[in-house]
Amino acid sequence: MIRVGIPRSLAYFKYFPLWQTFFESLGAKVVFSLPTNPLIVEQGIKSVVDEACLPVKVYFGHVQYLKDKVDYIFVPRLVSVERKEFTCPKFLGIPDMLKASIPDLPNLIAPTIDLTKQDKYLWKKVWEVGRLFSSNPLKVSLAWQKGLSELSTYKQTWLEEEIPAQLNIYYKPTYSQSLKVVLLGHEYIIYDQYLSMYLIEKMAKLNIKVVTTEMLSPWIINKEAKSYPKRIFWEFSKNTLGSVFYYSKQEEIAGFILMSSFGCGPDSMTASIIQHYLKGVKDKPLLNLTIDEHTGEAGINTRLEAFYDLLMRRVG
Ligand code: SF4
Repeated sequence: MIRVGIPRSLAYFKYFPLWQTFFESLGAKVVFSLPTNPLIVEQGIKSVVDEACLPVKVYFGHVQYLKDKVDYIFVPRLVSVERKEFTCPKFLGIPDMLKASIPDLPNLIAPTIDLTKQDKYLWKKVWEVGRLFSSNPLKVSLAWQKGLSELSTYKQTWLEEEIPAQLNIYYKPTYSQSLKVVLLGHEYIIYDQYLSMYLIEKMAKLNIKVVTTEMLSPWIINKEAKSYPKRIFWEFSKNTLGSVFYYSKQEEIAGFILMSSFGCGPDSMTASIIQHYLKGVKDKPLLNLTIDEHTGEAGINTRLEAFYDLLMRRVG
């Protein structure tokens, strides 16, 4: 059986049900790297250029973990996943950076996904990958449809204000939760327990109800993002700003926490817009946490607890 490795990092958090189902439906065995841990981070840091942001360093560590265990590693080059919107430039260069930095890699499955292209483009990409496992286009198409259906179930869980069980994050919303706080950040930071230092669990322990961008429908996000005077063409920035605009109008939201990576270009711009917006327009408190590989957990704990005290004082 052909083994396909999928790094548990970056776009994994958004798409893994689709990818896993697609490959398994075509008869492949999917091997995920372990959840991020100190060894994976260390291996990543050793194998990538210093200038990379922490999530990219960690991604390299996940690839290192998989490289001798599988026949292929799936590392899609995500250029655009929404019409007229783009991902971060680092996503575009990942397959090339990996080839340049890590020797003896197995074959990479690295389709370029650019939804600014026209109609049949996506099917061509699906077929480009699927034909490695089956010469039957119908089988590939059915595997893709099944994958999309799994992805839709996964997304539906978010819309019910829950965190999908597959992410193994211990978080169960309860009615006794006194504060509702929006947690903003890339999925590969806030849902990666090691990178986020268990921030969601820590918030839950303080009896905070956590809501995130993923819990809003694309329709709401797009509608809200349009209220920004300039069209936002970075996909993540648009989603984050759309959710800030929406949640800041909700009475029950007590505050916002933004967790981002040091050295992230798109986040430096987005964080600044959020800060100004929340300060000048809505006056909802914001805790801005920037992490890198040297960030200490004690510092995060202290800042979270201080933020919690501030919110509790405000709600009386
Ligand atoms: S968006 Fe920021 S954190 Fe994410 S890969 Fe790009 S630079 Fe890194």
